[in-house]
Amino acid sequence: MPLHPELLEIVRCPKCLGNVTERKTKSGSGLVCDACRLVYAIVNEIPNFLVDEARPSE
Ligand SMILES: [Zn+2]
Repeated sequence: MPLHPELLEIVRCPKCLGNVTERKTKSGSGLVCDACRLVYAIVNEIPNFLVDEARPSE
């Protein structure tokens, strides 16, 4: 189930405060920051915006 579009408009990368985009990853959906090249996992439709737990995007 995709994230609510309005939520995607207000969420920002916690590291650089840039826009994130929803993208499919190997382990499910994630929010990707292209500036930081980080993927924030979406768990139970809730984005995990802990920078320490973000993974590098490919
Ligand atoms: Zn960022």
